[in-house]
Formats: sequence, C-alpha cells, structure tokens
Amino acid sequence: MTTFDIINPATEELIRSIELVDVEATDDAIAKAVVAQKRWAATAPASRAQVLRSFARIVANHNEELAQIEVANAGHPIGQARWEAQNVANVLEYYAAAPERLIGEQIPVEGGVNVTFHEAVGVVGIITPWNFPMPIAAWGFAPALAAGCAVVLKPAEWTPLTAIRIAELALEAGLPENLLTVLPGKGSVVGNRFVTHPDVRKVVFTGSTATGKTIMRGCAEQVKTLTLELGGKNANIVFADSDLEKAAAAAPAGVFDNAGQDCCSRSRILVEKSVYEKFMELFEPAVKAFQVGDPANDDTEMGPLVAKAHLDKVTGYVDDESLVAFRGSAPSGPGFWFPPTVLTPERTHRTVHEEIFGPVVTVLPFEDEADALALANDTEYGLSGSIWTRDIGRALRVSRGVEAGNLSVNSHSSVRYSTPFGGFKQSGLGREQGPDAPLAFTETKNVFFAQD
Ligand code: NAD
Repeated sequence: MTTFDIINPATEELIRSIELVDVEATDDAIAKAVVAQKRWAATAPASRAQVLRSFARIVANHNEELAQIEVANAGHPIGQARWEAQNVANVLEYYAAAPERLIGEQIPVEGGVNVTFHEAVGVVGIITPWNFPMPIAAWGFAPALAAGCAVVLKPAEWTPLTAIRIAELALEAGLPENLLTVLPGKGSVVGNRFVTHPDVRKVVFTGSTATGKTIMRGCAEQVKTLTLELGGKNANIVFADSDLEKAAAAAPAGVFDNAGQDCCSRSRILVEKSVYEKFMELFEPAVKAFQVGDPANDDTEMGPLVAKAHLDKVTGYVDDESLVAFRGSAPSGPGFWFPPTVLTPERTHRTVHEEIFGPVVTVLPFEDEADALALANDTEYGLSGSIWTRDIGRALRVSRGVEAGNLSVNSHSSVRYSTPFGGFKQSGLGREQGPDAPLAFTETKNVFFAQD
C-alpha cells in the first residue's frame, strides 16, 4: 500500500500519513455504490430529505472540529475555515428540500398522457482540488445525493482530511453505507478510474483547466456527462466614478483571500487611467495592513500557501523585481509563506494572462469603458469578476459585456449556495449550486401512455 504524507503548511510538520487507494479498491467502492444507489433512489423522497437534514445538523455540530482540521491541513485562517464548514451544512440543508421537489411535467399531446421523469444518473464521481476542500466537495455531493445518486469522491492528495471526516459524519447521520465514499488517492489512478469506469455515469471535476481537458477527452469515450469547474483570471474593474476608497479597501481581500488560491480571485485589477495614481496610493496601505500569519489566530486574514511545490510555482512568477510595485508582509521561518505582492507589468506579460493561483495581483490602467471590456475579456478564462462604479447604466452595460459566469458590482462576492456558479470559455462547463443543481444529476425521461 502506497502512503502519502499530509503536511501542515504553516509549520511543515507531518500531520499523518494517508494510505492511497488503488484501482482495485476504487472498483470495489464503485460496485458497492451501484447497489447502494438503487436502494437510495427507491427510498421515499421525504425519507431522503430527512437523512440530508440530519447530515446537515451533524456537520454544523462538528463545525469547530472540521475547521480545525482545515486550519492544520490547508493552512486556512480559522475564521474562514469555520465559514467553509458551515457552508457544507448550509448546502446540505438547502438541497434537503430537493428530493421532494424534483417535479416532472405532464405535456399535452394527442392520444394519451405524456410525462417526464427526472431519473437519477446513478453513481457520480467527484474529483476535488485542494484550495477549498470542504465546500467544493459539498457543492457536488449534496445535490447529487438529493437527486438520488451515490457518490465516490476523490479529494486532492494534499488535503483529504476534512472529506474523510465528513464521510464518517454522513454515516453517523444515518446516510446508508456506500452512498458517499471518500477515496484518497492519485488523480491518475482514482480520478482517472472514475473517468474510465462504465458504472460511473457522471464526473464532476473541479481543478485546473489542463486536467479538465484530459478528463473531458476521457469522458468522450463513453459519452459520459460531466461538470467542469476550472481556472480563472478574473478582472476587478475600477472606474473613476466609483467610491475609490471602498474599492481600494476591498481589493486586497478580493485577491489575497485564501492566499490567492481561489479560482474567483480578482487577480487582475484594471483601473481607469484618471484615478490610477490615487487608487495605488489607497491600495498600498491596504495591502500592507493585510494580516498574514498563523492561521489558528482569529485575526489572521491570510495563511501560508498549501505546499512547497505550489510555493515554488508562485515564486517562479515573480522573477522580475522591476515589476513589483509593493508587497505586504509574511512570516519567515518554517511554513510555505509568500507575501501579498502587487505587480505593474505590461498588458502582454505572462503574469497578466496565466493563473498564478497565489497572492500575486497585476494592476493595469485603462482608457475608457471599451478598453476596460477589451482588457477584461482578453483571457481564455471566464469565471468571475467585479465592477466598481456608481453609474447604474455602466454597471449594466459592463456586467453584460464581461464574458464570465459570476460577476459582482461594488463587491467581490462570488459564491452563494442558492445561486448558480460556473464559468464561461475555458473556465468550465455546466453550473453548480443554485436551485437547478440537482437536475444536473438526473436524466430526463419522457414516457407516453397511450389512452386506448
Ligand atoms: P489539478 O487539476 O491539479 O487537480 C484537481 C484534482 O484532479 C485533484 O484531486 C487531482 O488529484 C485530480 N487529477 C489530477 N490529474 C487527474 C487525472 N488525469 N484524472 C483525474 N483526476 C486527476 O488542480 P489543483 O491544482 O488541485 O487545483 C487548482 C485549480 O483548480 C486551479 O486552476 C483553480 O482555478 C481550479 N479551481 C476551480 C474552481 C471552480 O469552481 N471553477 C474552484 C476551485 C479551484
């Protein structure tokens, strides 16, 4: 059995070694999930709803325990980790209503009665990244379970601990065995088996665009449905008519939350030329005041990067000191620390176009609304973005013009479990969250009942 060392990124200490699942164990879990799913789909909707509500309650009751695991495993600040654990409970509670509301249609036709059913797709394979291990898992498994599916879940190698604990809590809550099985393992082994196994009927993948493309190619072999939540290079557009102080004060959290390891991170700030200097004057003290340090401390706003390999990748992007406008602080000593860093490169520089996925932001001036839109859309990604303006007409025009799935006017809000989330262009395929998410785990069946 191969093992994998789980390291605390703030201290570099070993938390524990995890046994990695192989293909045989993955196949075994899928076979058991197939049996469990048939029983679950045949269970009364009200009973399935009760189990999901009980699952939500038990997760909420273990909020502090789950949050502490994430602080140690992923280096998330404790306040943020508590929000993430609560998000899992909220998502389960929200989708607990779904089993009783997967309502089909009766369509008027000649000679009989025509009815549509939303049939659960079967076993769903969910593959998650390391940046938000708890919520991203829940955005998949909660609506999937609500729709009557079974889930096999592969967490990212670096951060499997909360998913393992949540699956234990599911059993305590009364979720039948083999409906939510967490399989820590390699992407190329367990994740790939979800793609190739004929009994996994749908794959939900969140991660890099490069891996997403590999998975999409693999799913094509069996015409397997999939949801892809991929990378982002999101614009934060600040117009001269905005409340500039508010925009500058909010900008650090917009990009440095979770140490910039956020697909929705506003990692490209675009500022109207006439207020560019003023914005930078306001932005610099806000960046320097951003609290970077011990994630267990209540006041900390940003912890370490997740792993040494990732720290090396982010460091590689800041190889030209002449592009650095200013930096925030970061602890020295053990831990994978990188300070909030503000770059002022040319428009064509790779830091403006590639997803760095760390606490690095580029700031560019723009001429006018048309230039702002052209810059914002000059990317292969299309996940999220922000628009700061006091002009409602401009807010409407620009928000309709930006090619991205999730935009926010005068804030950096990105995800709410009750609203749809997902990307345009190479940021993804399909949507998660919101009222329709359970439908993505069903096939629509149409049946005609002849009258005579
Ligand atoms: P990654 O693509 O390296 O890995 C993601 C997951 O895929 C991991 O569990 C990994 O083990 C698995 N995997 C790797 N190769 C695989 C293969 N061949 N077959 C099946 N599974 C495989 O991504 P990451 O570095 O863990 O995460 C960071 C990326 O995730 C960033 O690009 C970020 O933007 C993206 N992300 C997107 C969203 C979103 O909702 N759009 C949310 C969070 C993160």
